[in-house]
Formats: sequence, structure tokens, C-alpha cells
Amino acid sequence: MVIVCFLILPSLFIHGQDTIVRCGADAFLEEALELRPELKEKRGLMELELQKHLNEHRAVPRTTITIPVVFHVVWHTDEQNISDLQIYDQLEILNRAFSMQNRNLHTVRGQFRHLISDVQIEFCLAKRDPDGMPTNGITRTQTDVEEIGNERINFTKRAVHFSEYGGKDLWDPDFYLNIWVCEIGGNVLGSATFPNSAPYPEAEGVVVDYRAIGSIGTGVEKLPFADGGKTLVHEIGHYFNLYHPWGPGSGSCDTDDFVEDTPNQIGPYRSCSNETTESCGSEDIVTNFMDYPEDQCLAMFTHGQKERMIASLELHRQKLLESDVCNPPGDPAEENTDLAQIQVNWFSNPQKIGLFAPCQGNFSLDIEVFDMAGRLVYSERANFGRAYMIGFEGYPSGVYIICLRDDQDRECSQVVVY
Ligand SMILES: [Zn+2]
Repeated sequence: MVIVCFLILPSLFIHGQDTIVRCGADAFLEEALELRPELKEKRGLMELELQKHLNEHRAVPRTTITIPVVFHVVWHTDEQNISDLQIYDQLEILNRAFSMQNRNLHTVRGQFRHLISDVQIEFCLAKRDPDGMPTNGITRTQTDVEEIGNERINFTKRAVHFSEYGGKDLWDPDFYLNIWVCEIGGNVLGSATFPNSAPYPEAEGVVVDYRAIGSIGTGVEKLPFADGGKTLVHEIGHYFNLYHPWGPGSGSCDTDDFVEDTPNQIGPYRSCSNETTESCGSEDIVTNFMDYPEDQCLAMFTHGQKERMIASLELHRQKLLESDVCNPPGDPAEENTDLAQIQVNWFSNPQKIGLFAPCQGNFSLDIEVFDMAGRLVYSERANFGRAYMIGFEGYPSGVYIICLRDDQDRECSQVVVY
């Protein structure tokens, strides 16, 4: 059993009356390393693979990447049940931050302005849920549990990640970036899982305190320090494999973030003004999204951080890059669905073969049925939405092969006729 208390972190500092822990991602990673001893070596290999990928792909021009997100609002009091509008505001802040459109770029000091990067990542609210049904990309769960973000099950797993314990089960992280919004507790603003490094699979995603989401509602009323929606920008940086500029852990000049154009620094900054901004022999950026100042100071990713995030997405979250769950059910973009996901079932009374797509769509397929001797016994061009039935009366009992073909793929499976 592992008990990790956020309040022992060196990232703790005082702001007004609040004791705030800017980020719990490192602590979450430490938990993962305790629970999964094999992870340390695996992460070392992943880092080597990532650096190799970066060396081989650095110059490749890219278009904007779209990442589907779902917000799981898990609320105990009415004020924690933040509005849709507050989430839309947060999404806008995210998209500005990852496209160099944030309004506080002027806080970046002159010598670092050439490093400001348009990351070319945008985020969209999911329009299809895991069952293929329409969604606005926001789930809402009322819970009896206070400070659910810090509530543990058997001292390890967090209740917020489990519907069974008053939280909300994640949606398939291959296709959705899961963002839980709740009261975390311990004045932790947010945490995230690094790629392939969650302490347990159900935690894959980002958790943000309801007081640190967006720049309206509870995002601005409850905690002035985090009133600009930058906590989520920072945590998604971790989700895309960025470290703090001082590297993993509490920081020293001996550790680094594996990004070339971020100056090495000894530890976090808590403000972008009135402080020495030099450590480890060089000036520090301070306004980097992955540092710790108040939201109004957090303003930029560097080119190197962009490359690392995109390389990591390509290597470790490839399905997320290809996910189309921001297309609503029935959208024409669904025409090229994954044929392997279409289920084939036999019905004996009346005799027919049923095809079932995982979600509503507009499919055009060629259907071919072969007997075990390889003879084509049935063919049809079919257009259907989610389900399609083939009348199959009068055929001898036995095993048949049914093949589905669209413009790109062909998938075959067996069906037993009786
Ligand atoms: Zn962090």
C-alpha cells in the first residue's frame, strides 16, 4: 500500500490565505512508480525512443492536430457543478494557449519571444459518447464525497476515477482526453498522467479543481491565483509528456526537462515579477506554461516543447490523433468507419444476417457472402445508418464467410447459419 500526501511536495506555497499546490502531476508519477516498479525502466526506454523519433522527424511540417475532450464534472455542492459556459470558456483558453493566441503574450520577456511557439493543437468537445450516442462532451455526476479528488480507495486509487465510488468512469482514453473537474482537496489545483505512466489505467487523463477551471464563475471567484484557466493548459502539457522546466521531481541543476530550448532552472517560480530570474547559470523563462506562477504570468510553450508534445502524441497516443468523436452521430465523416467494428450476427427466425455499426453513421458497403467452398452465394451494395439486415432464407446450414468492403478496407468474418 502506498500513501502519498500532496502536502509534502516542494511545490507548496502561500498565496493570500490559501496554501496552494500548483501541480500534483509529479506526485502522481511517483505513485505510479511505487505501484508499478517496472515503470522506471519502461519510461527510460520510452524517453530514448522519443528522442530518436524527434531526431528523425524534427523538420517535418505539420498541420493542426485536433484532440477530442470530455469534461467529467463531479460535484458535491451546487457551486462545484460549474456551468457549460465556464467549460466553453476553458476550452477557448486552451485553444488560444496552444495556438499562440493567448492575450498575455506581452508578459514574455524580450529575449525569449523568439521561442514562443504556435503548437498547432486544438481541442474539441466530443459529440459522440462511447456508445455512439450524441453528447455535448460534458458529463455531470453528483457525489456524496467531499474533496473527492483526494479521496482514496484502499489508499491508492482515487474515488473520482470510479463511478462505483462516487466519481465518474473514464471514457476510452484511446479516443478521448478525459478531464475530471471536482474538488480535489489539499488545495491542489490539478494533476495529470504522463503517457503510459498512470498508476492505474482508470486514471488516464487530467484532474482539475473546480476553482481553477476557466476565467468565469468559480474559476475567477474562488481562487484569484488560478483565475485564467491555465491550470488545464499546464496539466495537458504533462499529459502530452512535458516536464516542468526543472525536470522530474523537486528540481536541481542536475535534472532537466529533456527540451533543448528551455533553459535549465533549479526549481519553480511563483510569480513573474519581483524575483531573481536566473538559475543554473542562465536566465529562466518564468512565463512558461509548465512553470508555477499565477495564471496571468503563464504565457508560452517553446518550439522544443511543441516538438516533444507532438512526437509523444505520435508515439504514445496515436489513436487520439485519429479519433473522430467530435463528429456527431450520422455525420458524413462517418462514412469511412472502421469495418472491423461492425458486428455480424445470425438470426434464425426469420433467417437473416444482421450488421451493427458501433455508432450512427451513413455507410455505403459492398457485402459479399461466401460458402466454405469459396463460392460467392450472395452480394449486395448496402447503405445503412447503424443496423442493416440481410434476408438469408433458404440457404443450407453451415459456416459462411461474410466480407464487408468500402473504398479503403475489406474485412471478413465467419457467420454460422442454422
Ligand atoms: Zn505540473
